[in-house]
Amino acid sequence: MGQLDGKTAIVTGGNSGIGLASAKRFAAEGAHVFITGRRQEALDTALSEIGSNATGVRGDVSDLSDIDRLYAAVADQGRRVDVLFANAGGGEFSTLEHVTEEHFDITFGTNVRGMLFTVQKALPLLNDGASVILTGSTAAGSGGEAFGVYAASKAAVRSFSRTWANELKHRKIRVNTLVPGPIATPGTAGLAPNPDEAAKLWAFFASQVPLGRMGRPDEAAAAALFLAGDQSSFVTGTELFVDGGLNQI
Ligand code: NDP
Repeated sequence: MGQLDGKTAIVTGGNSGIGLASAKRFAAEGAHVFITGRRQEALDTALSEIGSNATGVRGDVSDLSDIDRLYAAVADQGRRVDVLFANAGGGEFSTLEHVTEEHFDITFGTNVRGMLFTVQKALPLLNDGASVILTGSTAAGSGGEAFGVYAASKAAVRSFSRTWANELKHRKIRVNTLVPGPIATPGTAGLAPNPDEAAKLWAFFASQVPLGRMGRPDEAAAAALFLAGDQSSFVTGTELFVDGGLNQI
């Protein structure tokens, strides 16, 4: 018997990296999974990897009409939502003197505005007792060079989860933040201009981590599954770090 048998889960940014690994895990545990992302081709590839228990809805979380289309697709299948993993995220990375309005708007538009309205617009479809998982980042507390705007956006996510856990407690909806440290995904590879530089960057990240390596997407997905299902039924308003000890030691 799967941990999410008969449940409906949504994973935004489910066509890559942590989101894709989590969508696969949720589906393997019996959930029907809706995945989103802006790139249709990546969605199609992801759907073929997840299997028949999944639906893809293309969309940009910073566009409210795309969020509406996602929930319309869920409602069209006559489903309500048990697990919402608001994972879509990313951003632009610049030092203070080079930050532009566009950098700021893309990063906050995705990680803050997008996350806020993804959760707000899900409320009518969320079952009482549902699990909402937000994606933060160890960057929120790191002070890493060129991470200022991204880190600030992820610090906002931390605040969201505490406030929303409080506001939604009357419906027994749990809200937690998954906080990845450096995980080997297309997202972290994309921080570098080419594969050689990406390998160097991953080696640098690994050298900073107490456990001495980058994390794998399936390790983040295992934590997401814990937060999604009944194993975490008494856990809300908190953060789960999956970072090889980066933030703790
Ligand atoms: P990936 O780049 O591999 O995946 C990011 C996902 O988000 C993709 O599916 C992408 O799909 C989607 N996405 C990005 N922007 C938007 C948007 N505006 N609208 C809809 N979907 C969007 O990165 P990761 O798996 O590494 O990152 C997943 C989450 O984890 C992010 O929130 C990231 O900030 C966070 N994180 C990752 C860490 C890491 O080391 N990997 C560390 C800390 C936090 P598409 O491009 O098709 O839109």
